[in-house]
This record gives sequence, structure tokens and C-alpha cells, in this order.
Amino acid sequence: MKNYLGILLVFFSTFGFAQERCGFSIGNKIKQVNNPNWIKQQVEFEHQLRALENTNAGQMLRVTAKIYKIPVVVHIVHNNTSNFIGGTNNTNISDEQIKSQIKVLNDDYRKKVGTNGSNINPVGADMEIEFELAQKDPKGNATTGITRTYVAQQNFDLQYDNKILANIIHWDFEKYLNIWVVKSKNGTIGYSEFPYDSDLIGLEADGSLIAEQNIFDGVIINYTNFGTCCGNLNPTYNLGRTVTHEVGHWLGLLHPNGDSNCGDDFCNDTPQIEKLNDGTTCNKLTSNCGGVIRMNMIENYMDYSPDRCMNTFTNDQKSRTRLALALSLKRKKLLLSLEILTETEKLTISIEPNPAKSIANLRVLFKGEKSVNISVFDLRGISVYEDVYDAQKSSLYSIKTENLRTGIYIIRVVAGSETSSQKMVIDK
Ligand SMILES: [Zn+2]
Repeated sequence: MKNYLGILLVFFSTFGFAQERCGFSIGNKIKQVNNPNWIKQQVEFEHQLRALENTNAGQMLRVTAKIYKIPVVVHIVHNNTSNFIGGTNNTNISDEQIKSQIKVLNDDYRKKVGTNGSNINPVGADMEIEFELAQKDPKGNATTGITRTYVAQQNFDLQYDNKILANIIHWDFEKYLNIWVVKSKNGTIGYSEFPYDSDLIGLEADGSLIAEQNIFDGVIINYTNFGTCCGNLNPTYNLGRTVTHEVGHWLGLLHPNGDSNCGDDFCNDTPQIEKLNDGTTCNKLTSNCGGVIRMNMIENYMDYSPDRCMNTFTNDQKSRTRLALALSLKRKKLLLSLEILTETEKLTISIEPNPAKSIANLRVLFKGEKSVNISVFDLRGISVYEDVYDAQKSSLYSIKTENLRTGIYIIRVVAGSETSSQKMVIDK
């Protein structure tokens, strides 16, 4: 087991003072100091993930996959006495800036063609996770998914002040991804909570850790590293990738070097590297780990590269996030509590885009909870593939159409006792 909990500080001089991409490693170190069992517990968690990845390897071969849609609440915690919204150097950032960040998350986590999140990397993954500003607040009232709170405190230490921020405002951690946008006190531009909790199989309960996670969970971002517009942005980290990176941690991903020289991030398709890209350019980097020279994957969102260099999550990173979502009680609860898509009296299905190229999204709506069977037939009536999901509510699924030839197919969905079919055109 390599040590991946070492402190990693990365300094550069964009503004002439020390700036750090991410406070995640340091956050780990704090936990380690507070709770000596933490390393042991996290190591067990990693072993579990690896074991499950091995036994569930076939899961990734499914042709269809459920798309997770995560509701997000953005808490603007600002020091603007006039409460004026937007403009340059205003911590009370505009709705437009917030929405530009949500778009980046969706472009990056869905590898959307025609956006900065697109890539042609052979191991590049569509993470099949989408984010939307919450439409209902914890009381069930309509909301924009944005809160604005004036505080006397001018700036925050992203690593040490997380509980202060959660105390100022948070929405139920088990129902929303909470993102706080603040002015950072020092150079750290992002901070995140790992999806650890003791209800995972094989882990002993630890009261202090559970208590801690009940107090803070989510992501904190410096306001000049949030979104892609509106006059506030840092010149290097200006395309919203700090949030993509920190949400990656929130979903269980580690830095590609495992936070130590040639360390392990538990993803086989990210190259083992000596150190993260702490420069301000996208120049290629190589590493020598165990006498093997490899090209760093500086384009990986979990590296420290400038925003413009980044466009890749890998298949193993996808596998890891989906396992973390399935295994971590807190994240699992969040998935279970997701607002279900509209219920319909009768089974209704729709396909987008149609015609499709490499991927199509299938929307399946019905009433209540049912098992869902998705089949695709060619025009001769021969089944091309079939996937079955138990205990589903109205959901979105993705269909990988990359291996289907150009032509017309029939998608058949059976939900409980109802059946619905629709024509899908593949046009490559
Ligand atoms: Zn990080």
C-alpha cells in the first residue's frame, strides 16, 4: 500500500502569491490527525472498491447505463453590504456566472461533443452523471437552487473553515450536492469532502467521523475560479474545471499521483506519475516510475493543470465513481432521494438524439416503481442486446450505439406489465 495521504502543496505565482489548486490532500491530513484510525479505515474502503471493481467488471460492459442526475445547491456567501449582485470583484456573483459553471459540469461529466469537455482519448469516458440546480428547496418549495447570504467575515480558509460555512448555511447533505462559493483567505481555490462513511461493508462504525460528515459535506470554491464568465475570473483556472476536479473528489476520485511520488490513484488507465502538473502551461510532461518512462495525462481533470488543458475522465475513474455512489451510504442516500422524473399514468419512452451517432439518451417514464427491461432489435426482429434493471422509478438511461451500424432499430421497453416501443435511427 503506497502512502497517498501525504501533504501535497503546489505553489505558483499567477497573482504573485502562493496558490493551491485543491485543499483535498490537506483536508485528509487534518482528519488523520484528528482520528488515528482514519488511514486504516480509508485503506479498507479502497480495498473494498478494488474488490468490487474486480467482481463487477462486467457491469461496465452493459450497453445501457442509468444516468445519475444530481441536484445542486450553490450557496453564495459574500461580504457585499449593498447586496448588489454581479460585476467585477464582487463575491456576490451573478446567476449567469453560476449557470455557466453548471454547464461546464455537464459538458465535462457527459463528454459533450462540441464543448471543452469533448475528447477523443481511447480511455476517455462519458461519466453519465448530470447536474442541475435544485428545483425544490428542503421544504419542497420552488427554488432557483441558489442561496445568497451576507456575512461579516470577508474571506475563508477553505480547509479549516468548512464547518463554519456549513453552519452559516447548508441544505440536507443527503439530498443535494452543496457547493459554497466564497472568497478564499489564502491561495487554496477548491476543497471537497470524500464520500467516506462507516456503513460500508467491512468498515467499523466511527462516531467522530460520522459526526464530522454530518456537519460538513460538499465542495467549496473560490469565487474567481467558478464558472466561465462575468468578469471575476482567474486567468489560469477560468473554465470551471476547479469544480469539475473537486466534484471528482466528492465522487471518490484521487489525484492521479495518489498524492505521493508515483503513488496509486486506484485507476489502472491513468498513468502512474511522479507529480501533478503544477505549471501554467499545457506542455507535455513525462514521469519515470519504477524505471518506466510514461507520458503524464495532464488533460485529466484530477490533475492540477490549467483549465484549458483539461478534458478527460477515464473509464476506470468512471467505474470508481459509480462504485463509490453505490457503496457510500451518504451518496447512495442522495441517489435514492433524487427527485424522480415526472411520473406518467402510462409507460412513455423517448429517445434523444434521434438519429443518434455514438450515444443516445432514453427517457423512461411511468408510475411508481417497477423492473425495467430495455431491448434493441434490428429490422429483422433480431435482438441486438438487452439489459434489465430492478426496482426503477422514472429514469434516464444512456444507450451506447457506437457498435451499431447505420440503420433503423426498434427499442422496446418493458416496465412491469407495460410495454412500449419506438424507432431509433443510427446515422454515422
Ligand atoms: Zn484535488
